[in-house]
Amino acid sequence: MSVKEFLEAIAAEIKVCPRCRLSETRTKAVPGEGSPESKIMLVGEGPGRNEDLEGRPFVGQAGKFLNALLLEAGLRRENVFVCNVVRCRPPENRDPLPDEIETCTPYLNRQIALIEPKLIVTLGKHSTEYMFSKAKIPFKNITDAHGRLCKTKLWGMQMTLFPTFHPAAALYNGEYKKRLVEDFQLLRKEAANLGIDKH
Ligand code: URA
Repeated sequence: MSVKEFLEAIAAEIKVCPRCRLSETRTKAVPGEGSPESKIMLVGEGPGRNEDLEGRPFVGQAGKFLNALLLEAGLRRENVFVCNVVRCRPPENRDPLPDEIETCTPYLNRQIALIEPKLIVTLGKHSTEYMFSKAKIPFKNITDAHGRLCKTKLWGMQMTLFPTFHPAAALYNGEYKKRLVEDFQLLRKEAANLGIDKH
């Protein structure tokens, strides 16, 4: 099977996943989407209302902002892979709970192992905390962690973690927005360094 076919098989599993309480309140699970050949993955927190209705990640206001940030960084949305830490919407957009993250992240791990990204952009606290825990990098908060290129080896692969603010948080906070825009300029340079821009 090709990487694309393996990713489709994982997506099919996620769509009917019954493993945690979030499956009971979801409309649609959101497996993630993008190019199987992508060298960049972006990992958000969890689906919001629009994502839950459509079954696709980052399709609401935060998604529009994310698409604009990607273009500024010389990247197209269809050439990266976008997903979340949890794949079903937490009710009332509450934070995902530790046991929900633990139950859901094997899907993320499998997608990472298949795609073999060179760069993983973690959007916000939850995805940064999760990926840092895997890489054994101490995490205090996103304000301290953001904008740093963290080289690491995960599942036998050399990669760079790049934490930044969550685009939804930045929509309501001018300071976060400014820093997020600056971080994506750094991302532009790093993508060029890695030869993964111009996609
Ligand atoms: N926020 C997220 O973290 N993920 C989405 O897919 C949409 C909004």
